[in-house]
Amino acid sequence: MQDCIFCKIATKEIPADIVHENEQVLVFRDAKPAAPVHLLIIPKRHIPALSELSEEDSGLMGQVHLAAVRVARELGLVEQGFRLVSNCGRNAGQMVMHIHYHLLSGRSFQWP
Ligand code: AMP
Repeated sequence: MQDCIFCKIATKEIPADIVHENEQVLVFRDAKPAAPVHLLIIPKRHIPALSELSEEDSGLMGQVHLAAVRVARELGLVEQGFRLVSNCGRNAGQMVMHIHYHLLSGRSFQWP
């Protein structure tokens, strides 16, 4: 997608603090962290939101989740805990229309 900022990060047109990468998934630090650890996990392929997922994306989304857990383990976040959240749509606070999960850790969180 030409005007998608996360697509441009995935193709390295825009710099990001990349923590982990494989063929299908990229993990990088959020530019405005809301917690001591605040990462974004994206599929490199452009999908605008969770609501747009189809059956054929199941493997890719599995890779997204596995990358999140892998990085949480590598950064030693498992014992203290971490939150993985994806905002879908405007009322949920989605600002960037490219599927992403926020991985937050390093402090305690309220719910909901
Ligand atoms: P959301 O509101 O769920 O769509 O989250 C979008 C997130 O992307 C926000 O937490 C932003 O701080 C983050 N963000 C936007 N642009 C960049 C960027 N160029 N590099 C890193 N994080 C970004």
